[in-house]
Amino acid sequence: MPTYKAPLRDMRYVMYDLLDAPGVLATIPAHAGIDAATMDAVLEEAAKFAEQVVFPLNQVGDREGCTYHGDGVVTAPPGFKEAYKRFGADGWPALSCDPRWGGQGLPVLLNNRLYEMMNSASQAWLMYSGLSHSAYECLVEIGTPEQQALYLPKLVSGEWSGTMCLTEPHCGTDLGLMKTKAEPLGDGSYALTGTKIFISAGEHDCADNILHLVLARLPGAPAGTKGISLFLVPKFLPAADGSIGERNAIKAASIEHKMGIHGNATCVMNLDGARGFLMGQEHRGMPAMFIMMNSARLGVGMQGLGLAEAAHQNAANYARERRQGRSLKGPQSPDAAADSILVHPDVRRLLLTSKAYTEGGRALTCWVALLTDLERGHPDAEVRKDAEELIALLTPVVKAFITDNAFATTNHCVEVLGGHGYITEWGLEQFVRDARIDTIYEGTNGVQAMDLLGRKVLADGGARLRRFGGRVQDFLAQARGDAAMAEFVGPLGALLRDVAAVAGEVGVRAQADPDEVGAAATPFLRLVGHLAYAWLWARMAQLALAKPDDAFHQGKLATARFYYARLLPETAMLLAQVRSGPDSLMAMAPEAI
Ligand SMILES: Cc1cc2nc3c(=O)[nH]c(=O)nc-3n(C[C@H](O)[C@H](O)[C@H](O)COP(=O)(O)OP(=O)(O)OC[C@H]3O[C@@H](n4cnc5c(N)ncnc54)[C@H](O)[C@@H]3O)c2cc1C
Repeated sequence: MPTYKAPLRDMRYVMYDLLDAPGVLATIPAHAGIDAATMDAVLEEAAKFAEQVVFPLNQVGDREGCTYHGDGVVTAPPGFKEAYKRFGADGWPALSCDPRWGGQGLPVLLNNRLYEMMNSASQAWLMYSGLSHSAYECLVEIGTPEQQALYLPKLVSGEWSGTMCLTEPHCGTDLGLMKTKAEPLGDGSYALTGTKIFISAGEHDCADNILHLVLARLPGAPAGTKGISLFLVPKFLPAADGSIGERNAIKAASIEHKMGIHGNATCVMNLDGARGFLMGQEHRGMPAMFIMMNSARLGVGMQGLGLAEAAHQNAANYARERRQGRSLKGPQSPDAAADSILVHPDVRRLLLTSKAYTEGGRALTCWVALLTDLERGHPDAEVRKDAEELIALLTPVVKAFITDNAFATTNHCVEVLGGHGYITEWGLEQFVRDARIDTIYEGTNGVQAMDLLGRKVLADGGARLRRFGGRVQDFLAQARGDAAMAEFVGPLGALLRDVAAVAGEVGVRAQADPDEVGAAATPFLRLVGHLAYAWLWARMAQLALAKPDDAFHQGKLATARFYYARLLPETAMLLAQVRSGPDSLMAMAPEAI
């Protein structure tokens, strides 16, 4: 049986020692009163919920899955509904929401740690409320005052959940192909007709009502993405006082049978003249939906991180107990029949890779969450703008770099257990299957890479990348004088120069051949991911060098050294791939592939 213990020690270290979160939050009026003791209390309660209430459901959800009962009725696995209700009753969905809508107004940073823990405990379970939070953010930004008053308190309390309905059978990445129609009914509402597929938590029995955020076309709308509008389509049409009314004509036609996240209902949703309400402006559905998608993309990064953490813990615990073979240096435990498998360098390679990526991911996501707090609440417009630009740059990195690494590391963790890793009872194979979807949905990682290189870097002439590079340069400037930091400063400085250089090279070559961007995108995203992790690991190493007698910090230093020695060299290959251009990819005739 797998186990899970929330990594509170590491969370505190990142928030307090590495990022000085209390100091940063003190500059934001809404969070000025929050100290480490308050944050600790929240984390400890969240940890109990994740460990004791949610984690025991993870294997049940995988085994039992969801059930389609016909006529649009779907139930979640045993125990999911009760845990969902308790999550709401205990106030967790409200944690970082605006007190105006019933929220607790706590920092996004804390909400992120909550999400990491719940994703470690059960990604499939968290998805019933995770998307509600993204719907909340979209409504806060573009909902009418009436929509906000009616729906936000219900989302914040968790009584109602949210979905995002984009995908159709013929239209996934290319949303411009969308066919679902919205006809005005003459009373300010619309009748929506069409079929959406792969809708996460599209139907279930956990919440009392479900708010579907649906993309559709108005009559006469321009072709492509410029003709798409966003609609709010409730499962039950509520009265003005929020009481539940008539059943709307949006129903689950079936649920998908899939590789992982069996506990989450992935639904085909039929809209048969369902009544919907415009959100934002006509034909401006894509920018509106991007509010939800950006939030959800950061959320998917947290899914990968949560799974990687859970897998690492179980693999490390197993490795500490398992004895096989002898050290190449000779027996290390001569009294035992065999040595611990931790004497084998290759087992350490697997575990340290997963540790370095997981703890690096925690540092990155904590920093991005703090930036979000600054973006939302700092009194200085320049600080808000700076945070906004950095978040825009790093959102595809959080989504894709973390989830690619999470799939690789959950796989590594299976390997650590040998054949036992492949056996269901140990739980490791479920982490791999669950992690697999994270690289695909919310825009595949290939699409994230195009977003990063095309929209976030080349389209602004590299301004956002330079902004991030400025942070790295500031660190290098203060660390350069310290001889003990030379092993980190040299490679980090070189990578910073290389990333800026290849971005410029691709920009120039793309003027002659646009395929340069598509060919460079995925290795480029990994380069930026490595730049971010290398910066954070160097900062962690610097803290550790000042604490030579502290075992926890020395563990950080050893992991930083492993990262620089064993993972960062991937950047040499990535640079070569970026520079190789599109020819080797595009030369082959389609029928030969
Ligand atoms: C379990 C699950 C849950 C999901 N939940 C939701 C949900 O809640 N709501 C929702 O609306 N959707 C949901 N989806 C759909 C998901 O977001 C899409 O599957 C995903 O965006 C990819 O679309 P597609 O499957 O149509 O693949 P396609 O778009 O057909 O892509 C196929 C391949 O081509 C690549 N590709 C396509 N276009 C480009 C391009 N322009 N440039 C480079 N590469 C490209 C892709 O990267 C991919 O490798 C879910 C899917 C699954 C499996």
